[in-house]
Parts: sequence; C-alpha cells; structure tokens
Amino acid sequence: MSTETPASPRPAADRPAAATPARTTAARPAGKPRRTKGEGQWALGYREPLNANEQSKKDDNPLNVRARIENIYAHGGFASIDPGDLRGRFRWFGLYTQRKPGIDGGKTATLDPSELDDEFFMLRIRIDGGALTTDQLRVIGQISVDFARGTADVTDRQNVQLHWIRVEDVPEIWRRLEAVGLSTTEACGDCPRVILGSPVAGIAADEIIDPTPAIADIVERYIGDPQYSNLPRKFKTAITGHPLQDVVPEINDIAFVGVVHPEHGPGYDLWVGGGLSTNPMLAQRVGAWVPGEEVAEVWAAVCAVFRDYGYRRLRTRARIKFLVADWGVEKFRQVMEDEYLHRRLVDGPAPAVPTRSGDHVGVNEQKDGKFFVGLSAVAGRTSGSALLGLADVVEAHGSTRVRTTPMQKLLVLDVEADQVESLSQATEALGWSARPDAWRRSVMACTGIEFCKLAIVETKARAATVVDQLEARLGALDSPITVHLNGCPNSCARIQTADIGLKGQLVPGPGGEQVEGFQVHLGGGLGLDAGFGRKLRGHKVTADELPDYVERVARAFVADRADGERFAQ
Ligand code: SF4
Repeated sequence: MSTETPASPRPAADRPAAATPARTTAARPAGKPRRTKGEGQWALGYREPLNANEQSKKDDNPLNVRARIENIYAHGGFASIDPGDLRGRFRWFGLYTQRKPGIDGGKTATLDPSELDDEFFMLRIRIDGGALTTDQLRVIGQISVDFARGTADVTDRQNVQLHWIRVEDVPEIWRRLEAVGLSTTEACGDCPRVILGSPVAGIAADEIIDPTPAIADIVERYIGDPQYSNLPRKFKTAITGHPLQDVVPEINDIAFVGVVHPEHGPGYDLWVGGGLSTNPMLAQRVGAWVPGEEVAEVWAAVCAVFRDYGYRRLRTRARIKFLVADWGVEKFRQVMEDEYLHRRLVDGPAPAVPTRSGDHVGVNEQKDGKFFVGLSAVAGRTSGSALLGLADVVEAHGSTRVRTTPMQKLLVLDVEADQVESLSQATEALGWSARPDAWRRSVMACTGIEFCKLAIVETKARAATVVDQLEARLGALDSPITVHLNGCPNSCARIQTADIGLKGQLVPGPGGEQVEGFQVHLGGGLGLDAGFGRKLRGHKVTADELPDYVERVARAFVADRADGERFAQ
C-alpha cells in the first residue's frame, strides 16, 4: 500500500514557529528534558502517526479503497474485507457497517466494535446542494428497492441514507448512481463531506446570490482529490445566498453566507469553526467578503489550513473549531492569506440575522411566478417506493426538479399554480406533507439504535410515536417547538440547537434499573436565537415518559408566553 501525504504549500522551515498556545502541564523536575507531543499538526513537523485513525490514513490513502471494493471485496464478500478498510477507509465512499440487530444500548460501550458489526452496510449518497432531478430520485428509489430492503432516510445534511447494503452490490450501485451524475465519494470519513446548499438556490425571489455555481466549482475541483482527502477529521461546508440562512451555517466547519458588499455587490461572508458534538461551538466571522467566483479557491485555502495545522493527536480535538478557538479568527485569516492565498481578502459587512426558520415547508412563490412546495415526513424517514412514487408525481405535475434540505425535508420546484393542490394531495399519500402541523414539521431524529453502532437508544420510531401522541393530546401548535432526538452524545440531529434537545442515554427507570432515556437540553436555536440549549442538571426522562414530558413543557410555554414570544426567547 502506498503512503500518501499531501504536499504543503510551503516548506515547514518557512512556517511560524509556534501556532498553538501553551497548555498547562505539571511541573517538570529540574534537569529533565521537556518531552513534547505537540498536537499532531503536520505544518509544525508532527507527522508521526499519532492514533489508529492517523496510522490508517498514513498506511494508504482511503480513496484507494474503491479499487479493492470493486476488484476484491465485491467478489469475496464480507469475510474478505481487510479490517482496516472495513472500519476505516470504507467511510470515504459513504459506507459504514451497520449495527447488528438486537444488541441493546447498554452494550454499545462495552462490546468490541467487531461484535457490533453486521455484515450489512449503511450507504450515504451525497447530494451536494440537495439538488436532484426526478431521474436521479428514481435511481435512488430503485436502488433502495433492489438493494436496501426499501429503506431510505433524508438526512439533515441533504444526503439520502440507505441500509442493508451488501458489499457484493456496491459496484452496481455506484454504476447506477454515476450514470445519473451522483456519487458516494467522500460522503463520510476525514474529508470534505457533502456541501450543504440553499434548497431554494436560483429560484427564490429574495435570494442575495445563487450558490449553485460555487457549489459545483468546489465539487468539480476538489471532491475526490487526494490533496484534500486526508484531513484531521470531517470537514463540513455550508453555502447559502438566501436571507434565511437556510443551511445552518453557524454549526459548519466553513460557511459562506450571502451578503451585499456596499462597493462590490453580492457575495459571501466567510465563517469558520462551527460544530456540535461534545464541545459545541458557533462558527465565527472571519470578516472577509468573498465573490462567488472565488469561493472554491478560498474554500481550498481554509481546507488546507485545517489539513496542515489541524490537530491530529487526539480525535476529540481534531475538528477545525478547536484550531479556530485557540488561534482566534485574526490569526486564522492571516495564516490563510499569507501562506495559502498569498493575497489579502476584501473586508466585508456582516449579513443581517434571520428572524425566522428557513425550513421552506409549505407553498411558496418562486421568482419566475411558479411555486415550490416544501414537504415534510417525520424525521426524514421515507422509503424507496415512496421516492419512486414521488418522482412520478412530480413529473405528472410538470416538474423535474427536487431538493433535499438540511431540516430532513424535500422541496418540489417549478410547480404551476393550478398544479399545487393536486401535487400536495398526491405527496401526502406518499408520507410527504405540504401542510404538516407544528409537531410533524419540527421533529428531527438521527439514525439511532436501529442501525447506528454508537447508539444507546432508539430515535426514528420514537420520534414518530412522540409526534402521534402530541398531535392527539395538544393538536396543532400556533408556534413551532423544535424537538430533536439523538441516539448518543454525538449530535447528528443537532440537539443543542433545538428548543427541546434530547440526548440519548441510559437513565434510571421506575424500579431503579437502567432503561433507555434522554438528557434534556432546553432553549437552543439558530439565527436570531443562536445559542446552545442549556443542559439542565439532573433533567433526564425515560423514553416512556417522553411524550408526557414534552407535553408538560409545551403546555407551560403556551400558558406563560408573552405575545409573539418564541420558545427560545
Ligand atoms: Fe449514531 Fe449518535 Fe449520530 Fe445518532 S447521534 S446517528 S446514535 S452517532
């Protein structure tokens, strides 16, 4: 296997000598030489493999695993897969082993990972900007029916995720996807993941700038490029030109947010360093304005700073947010400009803060007089047959364009006014509603224990139960309350940004035994209400108590709120 380490733009000797602040350590006995492990930053000379993940990436560039899947594993089956590929490099092509059915959440942390592995895979299809044609939607639906036991989830990163995939079928799945311009390349792994893009790019009347060309430019130039395929950890991008900032830019590693420069016109404000999980941080403005045609170049510079200066020693500190927090954005900008762009960026203004959600559900007029229809299924759960049905319905109503959204929703674009009602009724029958009530609209859930090896509790089915019960008990709410469920302390469903965020864990049951439940976070939000929900000490509910708990919180909010008050205020 070859060793691939992307070239740095300047020799290490030319680089600044110290890039990280001193960290507190115990007193060193006099006369003993200082031993420094550094943070694993390549640019400062720490290139030794520092943990198992770094060793795996050093042993072989993960992009090389595709050839082994096609030439060896698809023929030899699951048993033929090298363990390093199975639990590491497969991710670069959107493949994770899924959880063996029937293993309860209490065993997640105690079993060896191999005991949790099923012989089937989760496959993530990347949909940059969420943009799909009905032909592409039909291909995904048919792959689900033929190879994934009909499973399909629209994720909160605009991907579609399938389950029950066999390695033997992966080459045929790639062939079908690539025939319609889709792929799974770098859908997971320590690399640039799918580019979130405004779901209303190019059609919204109030759009500041259309991000479609910038997204296409990044994908074409850099996705699958070995220079950017070995990053310290995942690298999440969001680009929007819509005033509602509809791509959760605050919690991405890098975001370009539409803004009008008083002299130069429409472009993007550059943000870096957002992310959730166990150390949530909001992205910070760099203070630079980037014109659309320079987005890809600036994106590559930020990505390269992360690759070369990002922390690789500890996985828990390897996201770009830790580097930005330690350096500050001024130093980050200076290193990016001096060492990578070799020029100064234009200073720019801050975009206006959005005052409402950008989930785009419902019927909305486009700038060309047609309409887009935003559809919601509970927590993005759908099926291959529903996606096939949707493709037919959309075409029967005169459109060929669909978008996935970062809120686990789907939009149908380009609908004539006289087709809207008929389309809405037809999609309702497929589980996608254009008029969901506040609960159905505002619940999100991650994959959870059904398929995820890190999960402690069930999430998707529980989200559906909670919605059914709250609808029966409370009816429709006039003010949405967002409820997000995670199956473990990772934050795939963004619990810290929800009104009611629920982190899956085992909690004491009625008889003192450990049962599935949730730690509650209250009052998170983005946009005008940007801030993380407060974790209330000792505030934990069992899964069985969850509908009662949410009902109590909702009733208290409705009873006590001032006129026009939203939950997060
Ligand atoms: Fe899996 Fe945890 Fe992410 Fe849910 S939050 S998908 S359980 S890793």
